Amino acid sequence: MQLLDIQDLHVRYITPRGPVRAVDGVSISIAAGEIFGLAGESGSGKSTIAHAIMRLLRPPAIITGGSIQFQHNGQSKDILEMSDSDLNQFRWQDVSMVFQSAMNSLNPVMRVRDQIIDVLMAHQPISRKEAIERTETLFNIVGIEKQRLDAYPHELSGGMRQRVVIAMALALNPPLMIMDEPTTALDVVVQRDILQQIEALKHKFGFAILFITHDLSLMVEFSDRIGIMYAGEIVELAQAQAIFNRPLHPYTQGLLNSFPPLLGPKVKLTGISGAPPDMTRPPKGCRFHPRCAKAMAACSHSAPKFREIEPNHFVACHLYE
Ligand code: SF4
Repeated sequence: MQLLDIQDLHVRYITPRGPVRAVDGVSISIAAGEIFGLAGESGSGKSTIAHAIMRLLRPPAIITGGSIQFQHNGQSKDILEMSDSDLNQFRWQDVSMVFQSAMNSLNPVMRVRDQIIDVLMAHQPISRKEAIERTETLFNIVGIEKQRLDAYPHELSGGMRQRVVIAMALALNPPLMIMDEPTTALDVVVQRDILQQIEALKHKFGFAILFITHDLSLMVEFSDRIGIMYAGEIVELAQAQAIFNRPLHPYTQGLLNSFPPLLGPKVKLTGISGAPPDMTRPPKGCRFHPRCAKAMAACSHSAPKFREIEPNHFVACHLYE
C-alpha cells in the first residue's frame, strides 16, 4: 500500500509570455517508511511538486491536471479535493514540511518554544502544560538544549534553527515529512550531522520522507529510491544504489558528475553544459537534447517514452529503445 500516490500531475505558472510548464505529467508514489529522493537542477519542478502535495501553490501557479492521493490508517484522502478545514488538519498531522530556509518557516517575533506549542495545541486536544512538556521532549530528540526554548529564531545558528523546524515537523508524528533542500543553506559538517539525525529519527518513528535536493551525491546516501527531474518531467527512477552504480539517463550521469561524492576517491567533476530550457516553450522531442552529448537525430523530434529498462529501473531516453 502506498502512502502517497501522485498520478499524471500537471502544474502551470501563468505568465505574460505564456504558461510555464513547471510540472508536466509526473507520476510517483512513496511507500510508508520510505525515503524517496527527488533530484534535479533548480527550476526542474521538484519544489512545485512539494508545494502541490501540501496545497501551498498560489496564483500564478495552477494545478491543471492529475491526482494526489494520501492513504494512511485505512483512510484514503484526495488531496486536490480537500476543503480548507480538512487541509488545516492534513498539514502537520499527516504531512509536515521542512523548507530550505528555516527563517521562512519560523515567526521571527515569537520564541521558538511558543511556535511549537501553537502547532501542538492547534491540532491536538492537549493542555498548555502538556504541550510545553512535549516541546521539551521534541527539543531533546533533535539535540537542542532546553535553555534554547526561550530563544527567538535570530538568536540561534542556522543549524539550530533548522533543528527547531525539524522538531516542529515531528511535533504531531506525521507519517510523511517533506524536506525541501533541508540542509542546503548549512555548511557541510552541520549538513551531514542533521541528515544523519533525520535518518536516525526516521528509523525511530517510522515516517516516510520526500527528500528534495539538487545534490545527487548527498541524496544517494540518504534515499531508498530516487526520481530524477528535468524540465518538469521524471526522466529516471530507480533504487538509490542503481542510480549511483548504473545511471542510465545522460542527465543523471551529468548530475552525478556535478557534485563530489561523499564517499570514495576524488573524481574530476565535469558538470552539465548549457542551461535548463525556457519552460514556456520546452524543446520538442527529448527536452534534454540541446544539452545532451549523446543526442541522436530522433532526439530532437520524438519524445522518449518512460519505460522500465531493468527491474524497478525506469528511464526516458532513446538510447535504451
Ligand atoms: Fe540524450 Fe536523446 Fe537520451 Fe534525450 S533521448 S537523453 S537527447 S540520448
